[in-house]
Amino acid sequence: MDSRPSKICLVSACLAGINCTYRGKNNLNDKIKKDVDGGRSIALCPETLASLGVPREKIELSGGDGNDVLDGKAKAISSNGTDVTKDVIMGAYKVLETAKRLGIKNAVLKSKSPTCGVGRIYDGTFSGTLRDGDGVLTALLKRSGVTVSTEKEV
Ligand code: SF4
Repeated sequence: MDSRPSKICLVSACLAGINCTYRGKNNLNDKIKKDVDGGRSIALCPETLASLGVPREKIELSGGDGNDVLDGKAKAISSNGTDVTKDVIMGAYKVLETAKRLGIKNAVLKSKSPTCGVGRIYDGTFSGTLRDGDGVLTALLKRSGVTVSTEKEV
């Protein structure tokens, strides 16, 4: 018999204290870590799953948000100018695959990230300026019917 929790939630791995940010740090949220430790949530990092490495260059979305990236209208660019669009999309699809396998319907993802951000992300100028829009993973999950919120809403 499958004993997995039926209401398991997906969370950004950095929120669970895993050192997977581009700086090699984390964004620990005690409540989220507790849920992961208790088996109520699963922690994944799409940029690490894309083999972008830790640490890695900072990434921002250029020319649009995550939906535009998925539609081929915008790109994910590293601070050194490398186009990492394909990698970021691949990482997002890897997370989606797991989410589907586990029947996940809810996610709590890190705000402002080009991949995990919900509603607000950096604008692609690497100047610390925010714009409206979702990250690539968030856009993909929403298209698959997953409800996504940020750590600031839980
Ligand atoms: S991609 Fe998401 S999970 Fe990974 S470090 Fe960035 S915000 Fe955290």
